[in-house]
Amino acid sequence: MEDLILRAAKDIMNSKYAIALTGAGISTESGIPDFRGPSGIWTKNPEAERRAYRSYERFLADPKGWWEERLSSPGFLGDLSKVKPNPGHYALAQLEKIGILKWVITQNVDALHEKAGTQNLLEYHGNAFKLRCISCIARFKPGEFDVKKLAKEDKLPPRCPKCGGVIKSDGVAFGEPIPADVADKSYTEALRCDLMLICGTSAVVYPFAELPRVARRRGNVVIIEVNAEPTPLTMSGISDYIIQGKTGEILSRIVEEVKKLKGKA
Ligand code: NAD
Ligand code: ZN
Repeated sequence: MEDLILRAAKDIMNSKYAIALTGAGISTESGIPDFRGPSGIWTKNPEAERRAYRSYERFLADPKGWWEERLSSPGFLGDLSKVKPNPGHYALAQLEKIGILKWVITQNVDALHEKAGTQNLLEYHGNAFKLRCISCIARFKPGEFDVKKLAKEDKLPPRCPKCGGVIKSDGVAFGEPIPADVADKSYTEALRCDLMLICGTSAVVYPFAELPRVARRRGNVVIIEVNAEPTPLTMSGISDYIIQGKTGEILSRIVEEVKKLKGKA
């Protein structure tokens, strides 16, 4: 593993435009379960997965009922407000701070990259703390709508003050299109990068999992995975190599080595 960490640090130092892709695995060390790892929410409860797949369909058919259900259940990931970033999130924030990492594109909705200080962040599947109009993509901070009050007054779903569209949580549900602004920017960055560091994702959720393939097809790119287990990207040779283990430990070690190399340069 040490050899691969040194190799990654050198590849990162040789890159001109590095980006990172992250998934639920980078947040398990903060105490948030993933979906498909050995202790994942889906792994333990396949019925919850089947139900989640119908979530957007249910929202479109009955937004009021969807909101009422949401208000009465804690959600898959529980209370995310007190969860703290872990060394993996901080390592990526450091790589940005020293001028190496240009963007983090995350599938996570937990806002931990933002809390760790990453500035250039694309939240591909949205942010659990925000709301979004499904018509004009305007996003709203918590507190801009008092959803509980609206429920009491029988005024759900919330309506967009800009266009009158229906508002849902910003977190992208299964079957829901990725908001166009984030989808387009992520695609552009995947085409542009010459190094992609993919951390803690099983890489089976599409269209996110298309991004490494976009980069690979363009060529002239180094793709590194940091994950607890091999993924379809490993098996199909989309990634150049995988560093197998915990993102918190491996990413911190990579940053240490990058800093050493930077010191020598
Ligand atoms: P996933 O559950 O499908 O895969 C996670 C991967 O990370 C697995 O391969 C697992 O072995 C690996 N992993 C777990 N802990 C790790 C660690 N400490 N170090 C290295 N690897 C580790 O997750 P996904 O690919 O992100 O897809 C799940 C979808 O669910 C995403 O779209 C995401 O939006 C959503 N989700 C988000 C959160 C969150 O916001 N924290 C949590 C669960 C699910
Ligand atoms: Zn709107």
